[in-house]
Amino acid sequence: MDKIINNLNDVRYRIEQACVRSGRTPGDVLLVAVSKTVDIDAVRIAHEAGINDFGENRVQELNRKFEALPDLKWHMIGRLQTNKVKDVVGQVELIHSLDRWKLAEELNKRAKILDINVSALLQVNIAGEEQKAGVAPSDVDAFLDSVGSLPNLKIEGFMTMAPFAEDNIESVRPVFRELYKLSQELKRREYYNVSLKYLSMGMSQDYEVAIEEGANIVRVGTAIFQ
Ligand SMILES: *Cc1c(COP(=O)(O)O)cnc(C)c1O
Repeated sequence: MDKIINNLNDVRYRIEQACVRSGRTPGDVLLVAVSKTVDIDAVRIAHEAGINDFGENRVQELNRKFEALPDLKWHMIGRLQTNKVKDVVGQVELIHSLDRWKLAEELNKRAKILDINVSALLQVNIAGEEQKAGVAPSDVDAFLDSVGSLPNLKIEGFMTMAPFAEDNIESVRPVFRELYKLSQELKRREYYNVSLKYLSMGMSQDYEVAIEEGANIVRVGTAIFQ
């Protein structure tokens, strides 16, 4: 218990420092605590310490935790199969991992049935890693254009995952910088159902660099729960 709280204090302090270094306001950065694989008690401890937003990457686990703690804000951050869409829409605050057109259509379809809107971030594969999901940067503009035909889906920004940094954390900086640049560029264009207010980038290894490069959502798991 003390460990989670100490970890949280440390992560919050580092977020603050990264904000100060880069002229940002700490309140502008949302910390999503990634609770995948940790038990409900750990989630409760983090919640009591002031965290309201939790990230999960598996649908079953998300459903289980949502049922136990339905008043928290749950974020889907992992790859989502289209046949699981029905189990997610209506339970989640934000889907960070919209990575293909078929999934956009299914999310819209399900949201329409429930008569709600579903919010998602478009996952962009900046580094072009084959094993990572996401739309190629050059396809993002066309994707956002097409989203206008899906009235129950709201795109609220972008998400990316940097390659594993090994021992050189600076190696990830250009990835975050490029997504920020793309976001600034596309904000000047007009799309329907698109707001581009969030940049979800940065995990335990690299959230400070991500904030320095413009992230306003960071997804931190290990640094909090282990
Ligand atoms: C697991 C995961 C995280 C958190 O990773 P940590 O290294 O534990 O902070 C963030 N984003 C996604 C998409 C993840 O799957």
